[in-house]
Amino acid sequence: MGYEWIAIAVGFGVATGIIGKAKGNSFLIWFLVGAILPVIGLVAVLLTRNEDAEPERQCPNCRKIVKLYVQVCPRCGTELYLPDPSETRMPPPRGGRRGVT
Ligand SMILES: [Zn+2]
Repeated sequence: MGYEWIAIAVGFGVATGIIGKAKGNSFLIWFLVGAILPVIGLVAVLLTRNEDAEPERQCPNCRKIVKLYVQVCPRCGTELYLPDPSETRMPPPRGGRRGVT
């Protein structure tokens, strides 16, 4: 074990984190996964679902847009039932990304 392993861990961590962020997840979490589990973490993030492709709905209380699978609103704490299909929608497609996080 030497510095080259640290470099490999950081390299995989950054690559995994970038992919994770591109899929709408936390860069830091995937960075750690990729750094602790090089190759495995990278494969895992490639297999993970894209958060942006998840259907969304609006919190009836505070109007926050949350993912359909979210059961408690993260902003106001309202318990969210499964809505009518008519109330769900897909997130708008990402156009040219302009540095939006
Ligand atoms: Zn809410």
